[in-house]
Amino acid sequence: MTLTPNRSLIDVDRDHLIHPVTSFRGHEARGATLLQSGKGMWLTDMDGKELLDAFAGLWCVNVGYGQESIVEAAAEQMRRLPYATGYFHFGSEPTVRLAEKLVDLSPQGLDHVYFTLGGSDAVDSAIRYIVHYHNAIGRPDKKQFIALERGYHGSSTTGSGLTALANFHRNFDLPRPWQHHIPSPYPYRSDLSDDAAIIARSVQQLKDKVAELGADNVAAFFCEPIQGSGGVIVPPTGWLRAMRDACTELDILFVVDEVITGFGRTGPLFACEEEGVSPDLMTLAKGLTSGYVPMGAVLLSDKVYQGIADGAAPELAIGHGMTYSGHPVSAAVGLEVLRLYTDGGILANGRSVARRFDAGMKAIAQHPMVGDTRGRGLLGAIELVADKATKERFDPALKIPDRLFARGYRNGVIFRSFPDNIIGLAPALCASDGEMDEIFARIHRTLDDLLEEADIRAAIG
Ligand code: PLP
Repeated sequence: MTLTPNRSLIDVDRDHLIHPVTSFRGHEARGATLLQSGKGMWLTDMDGKELLDAFAGLWCVNVGYGQESIVEAAAEQMRRLPYATGYFHFGSEPTVRLAEKLVDLSPQGLDHVYFTLGGSDAVDSAIRYIVHYHNAIGRPDKKQFIALERGYHGSSTTGSGLTALANFHRNFDLPRPWQHHIPSPYPYRSDLSDDAAIIARSVQQLKDKVAELGADNVAAFFCEPIQGSGGVIVPPTGWLRAMRDACTELDILFVVDEVITGFGRTGPLFACEEEGVSPDLMTLAKGLTSGYVPMGAVLLSDKVYQGIADGAAPELAIGHGMTYSGHPVSAAVGLEVLRLYTDGGILANGRSVARRFDAGMKAIAQHPMVGDTRGRGLLGAIELVADKATKERFDPALKIPDRLFARGYRNGVIFRSFPDNIIGLAPALCASDGEMDEIFARIHRTLDDLLEEADIRAAIG
């Protein structure tokens, strides 16, 4: 095939580039929206249109776009040493320093770090290490995994079966027989109104599932502290601690997936901190490098690490590796991003601007299309309903999510538009109060615009 330099990039994209989690035919019909540059909270598209990014890319650019010190850190590391393998006992300074920093900053007991390229392979690595661990300690029957409905744990061959979203299972022959799910603690759609009762029910559902599978057969329970891709489902405070305690009691490993919630997204550096929870394994990505370069990690407790170490003969390798594990450029970026969060004041700014975020959420809850607003820190959702009293959802035939996203874009704001008519919000932590107010003003205008459309107005109860 000959390359045609003058062909529209959108046509070339349509012909050759496969986009993540899209309908192939749907994308061909719609075409791509190409972005050109970013600065702080703002993106500029190929047509020069400026947009406020209320989703930090894909809930990852927590420090905002255009942080020069990160660019410098990457360039400096590329000049000095662009690659160092972690194989054959090699390593490099930034990777070792970043591992030390993560152990220092993460919940107590997570003493060992394996670096990946993103979140999916962090989850995949966690599953592999857990399987290895149980074989190594002489409990080979412990192979069943439990996660939450509406959970997202990436799209690796194994992790996507712990994910519980229909698109990730359909035609992929998932979940596997060893992958199980219990209901999501979804307060807005629960028949229980009491937080303690919601927590108690989740604990009971986990115990029931473990009893059904046999405690001696269950390896681990995976969860997100706040379910992101499932629609930003915020469990009651105390839920994470209760699930940790239940896993200890049940003698199964507790794995917390902080790929979204990590690095200040909910206020503290890790959501686990808020409830004093220390998991057996923790997965990280996104905010680790703030999306500037790819990197993820799985942190292992000393118990899991030592179990694997003691179970293998010293001359045998633990056969898990990736060419780019602990990539020095990603690690150099990670170190600078961590500096910006802490010494650079970005975590503190995020906590401060979260008050404006909260106020914006409270105000928008009054809109006739809004059934629920929920969130923690700078992670939130606005759930739209046809009827506030009954919580009835809009008819899917109205195609609200596509119309919502398009209207928002026209109004100069980007947010996540989930299939259940849920708006997902995860603005960068560097936002000013004024920018946060402007995000909500634009979302408000977007909802007003939708409400002016006859079919949507007619659908409101
Ligand atoms: N785990 C969670 C909780 C996520 O939200 C994601 C991505 O959104 C992943 C894992 C997968 O991460 P990645 O897309 O970097 O592979």
